[in-house]
Amino acid sequence: MLVLVLNAGSSSLKYQLINPKTTEIKATGLCERIGIDGRLVHEAKSHQIKKDLLMPTHKEAIEIVLDLLIHGEEKVIDSIDEIKAIGHRVVHGGEYFNHSVIIDDDVVSKIQSLIPLAPLHNPAHLIGINICRELMPNTPNIAVFDTAFHQTMPASSYLYAIPYEDYKEHAVRKYGFHGTSHNYVSKEAIKMLNKIDSKVIVCHLGNGSSMCAVKNGKSIDTSMGLSPLEGLVMGTRSGDLDPAVINYLMEKKNMTADEMINYLNKKSGMLGVSGISSDLREIIEAAKNGDERAKTAIDIKCNRIKKYICSYAGVLNGIDAICFTAGIGENADLIRERVCSGLEFMGIEIDNEKNIIRNNKNRVISKDSSKVKIYIIPTNEEYVIAHDTYELVKA
Ligand code: AMP
Repeated sequence: MLVLVLNAGSSSLKYQLINPKTTEIKATGLCERIGIDGRLVHEAKSHQIKKDLLMPTHKEAIEIVLDLLIHGEEKVIDSIDEIKAIGHRVVHGGEYFNHSVIIDDDVVSKIQSLIPLAPLHNPAHLIGINICRELMPNTPNIAVFDTAFHQTMPASSYLYAIPYEDYKEHAVRKYGFHGTSHNYVSKEAIKMLNKIDSKVIVCHLGNGSSMCAVKNGKSIDTSMGLSPLEGLVMGTRSGDLDPAVINYLMEKKNMTADEMINYLNKKSGMLGVSGISSDLREIIEAAKNGDERAKTAIDIKCNRIKKYICSYAGVLNGIDAICFTAGIGENADLIRERVCSGLEFMGIEIDNEKNIIRNNKNRVISKDSSKVKIYIIPTNEEYVIAHDTYELVKA
């Protein structure tokens, strides 16, 4: 059985064709600049194709992908019927969805009703869903939500201290994101701990970054909020800041509310502080060469993660494991070392030799004497989407 995993963005479409039972990836790729000039990277049978290809809309992009899977030089299936289900990544499921669901008209209208909360993401997901329903009317579509895993948070974590009516009337609350990753990584950690009662902190550190406190397998707090802007210092997002900064800078720089949010989403974070790049590799390089702003950006990033670890230790009443995942969490030993150092008083002892070993397997990087285990667990969001999709359609 094969599942097509789709992640439709406003001008992009990421895809993977996966066998959810064996986890074999048959094909993977990315259509970019949809509606502009169109670019495709497709990989199957260890061959990569890179092409400029006009894709006026997502429909042409999906048609191109299906055509490559069936007719391309590196074709991996004989007919579209071999795709038994399609799993869609959907960023916002609001309070409607605490698990993945088979998409019907009601699910579509709920995803649509959440557009005000995810104006950049949900419209693109809907385009992907609607095209698949049109092109493959007999193939089930499944929605896997970034927010679903965090629906177990208690009100003490998800409510903001603003008038309660804003939650009731306008749905203003913390939703949290990266749920698919936090769910997968925490489950892997619980397996490694071999413990039923568990207190796990997941640090998903990529270009977008968030942390999650997971008690007995359930999310009880997370750093992203109403939108992915809250929390950690990210590639281009500010994360937490005093809301008064918004009004103050809007006046000083003569910006509209939309411009200000764009500024905090796209021009801030590591890029804004360093003035170099959103890419941590370039910032680390500059810091090594003595760039003070690059060093400060790294300090702010690590301090913020450390503060969240300490606050989640309080929320969880202790920690069994801290897990690092995603581009930075899996690859940046410097960040892991800086985050953990100084937390020895909490029983968090990183082993610097283990920390620098590079591979893409789940591994322990804490000292044997460390009370808290420190793990690197490579995330695999596509696999979780394929797995959830398979579980819902296999009957
Ligand atoms: P992601 O969004 O999960 O793909 O992660 C992207 C981020 O991972 C970028 O900021 C990269 O700079 C960072 N990254 C990837 N590899 C490394 C590495 N070896 N050292 C430091 N940062 C890395």
